Amino acid sequence: MRRALLVLIALAAGLAAVTAMLAPRARTRLAVKPDETLVRGAIHVHTRISDGAGTPDDVARAAAKAGLDFVVLTDHGDGTRKPTPPRYVDGVLVIDAVEISTTGGHYVALGLEQAPYRLAGEPRDVIEDVTRLGGFGIAAHPDSPKAELSWREWQAPFNGIEWLNADSAWRDERRRALVRALIGYWLRGPEVIASLLDRPVTTLVRWDALTRRRMVVGLAGHDAHARMGPRGEWEPTAGSYSLRLPSYVATFRAFSLSVALGAPLSRRDPHADAAAVLGAVRAGRITTVIDAVAGPARLAFAASHVGGQTPMGGDVRPGVDVSLAASLEPPAPGAGLHLLKDGVVVARSTDGLIVFAHAALSAPAVYRVEGVWPGAPGVPPVPWVVGNPIRVGFTPPRASVPLLLPAQWAMPAPVDGWRIEQHPASVTTLTPTILTPTNTAWTMTWRLGTGAPAGQYAAMAVDVPPGFVRRADRLSFTIRSAAPMRVSVQIRIGSSGMRWQRSIYVSPSPTEQSIAVRELTPVGAEPGTPLDLARVDAILFVVDTVNTAPGSTGEVWVSEVRAAGSGN
Ligand SMILES: [Zn+2]
Ligand SMILES: [Zn+2]
Repeated sequence: MRRALLVLIALAAGLAAVTAMLAPRARTRLAVKPDETLVRGAIHVHTRISDGAGTPDDVARAAAKAGLDFVVLTDHGDGTRKPTPPRYVDGVLVIDAVEISTTGGHYVALGLEQAPYRLAGEPRDVIEDVTRLGGFGIAAHPDSPKAELSWREWQAPFNGIEWLNADSAWRDERRRALVRALIGYWLRGPEVIASLLDRPVTTLVRWDALTRRRMVVGLAGHDAHARMGPRGEWEPTAGSYSLRLPSYVATFRAFSLSVALGAPLSRRDPHADAAAVLGAVRAGRITTVIDAVAGPARLAFAASHVGGQTPMGGDVRPGVDVSLAASLEPPAPGAGLHLLKDGVVVARSTDGLIVFAHAALSAPAVYRVEGVWPGAPGVPPVPWVVGNPIRVGFTPPRASVPLLLPAQWAMPAPVDGWRIEQHPASVTTLTPTILTPTNTAWTMTWRLGTGAPAGQYAAMAVDVPPGFVRRADRLSFTIRSAAPMRVSVQIRIGSSGMRWQRSIYVSPSPTEQSIAVRELTPVGAEPGTPLDLARVDAILFVVDTVNTAPGSTGEVWVSEVRAAGSGN
């Protein structure tokens, strides 16, 4: 009996020793003077509302345990769920947001009001909708090994980028490293999460290239689910998860986002406090700190010039001498501070201070700062602290070049002959209103088939003579709808059934809209399939389940449809 006990104790001791051996180095605890105007938090967190393991309150309590001031919940959705108003739980400011699936990857959208229709489809359209609804969006996990989830639409005008995503980072590790991580997790969870991070070289290069064109806010997404499982398109029924790992607390302790507010939070008015936090995030006054390496740490980065100071995230106009000053606190032996100019390190310091001059006559450049920690995990090592850029000397972009020159000619589409095309479960009617002898407005009233989205659609279509759009560079029309919605404008080559489309926003105020032929994207055809304009024989206005809920009804008015061009 006693012998068995001894064996057991020996086994337990052995196990503990192995665990300790396999666990990563404990984080270095730094001491820094408190500053009420800086708040720490997490953005990109999933709860039970989508595929996370905990309730919003569980997440808030975990954030409180990890010492965070705010947490932004970003459950998967289409923006039609009314966001829960900001509130304080256990002293943590909880802000509701949404992660939207686009055809070009996931888009984490913050600060938008409830959407009047489903936000989905092409990235450019979702970005346009999020912006119209007052929101700010972040291209999620560009490093995801799952191609269909990673962000791919680099020309689109998204507002921010995840330079790091904790849920993607572990997926490229070898199985042995993951087993080792699993054993070490019980001793040092946050350190284990950090140990699986690397420097995401491709994404950082991409970010540095993007910010030469325009400001793009960089931050690390926790993408916390508190469960580990096969990652796919999220579905309400996903249930094959087994491991409740890593916990919200461990993820929140692995790294945090430090946001410079300029003034302390009220801690009483959650609406005002949420506006302050989101405002600072939009402005780029946000720094990622890998706390499980060492923390807390505080980065300050500003540009001084005639006329004042520009903080992190800002733009300094051309033609002024600029002094860039970066400081990293607290001082820690071995820790380094790097100043990057257009992605290349141009100054290093070991005392946590850098001052760098950018002369008025120098070429425009983007500067940002990284803190480096000796022995930081990863190959190449993950940067310990990552701030946002200051853009210096760039001329503000002129009003964007118009996609289309003024039309020189227009050819009206047939006034008569419009008809309905619809899914068998949809109920659609089409009524003409004769406005003038040459102009008839068509009113489409529709009810999409109920049930799960299964290709329900309603469309009004007209046949056009061959060659109708051959010389055109656009389709123009006047359109309005009973309620805000998106309509897919399509052209079709009847013989092949191939269609090309552009989704447009339609509202109750009638607007004249033009879609450029070269902006059309193929539907039901391979991307890049050449569009033979001479063969186009139908024009369609389509309402489908991309943006419209099954079972819903509505009305669209379309008139003055024409092909037009700016050439001869
Ligand atoms: Zn995602
Ligand atoms: Zn996510």
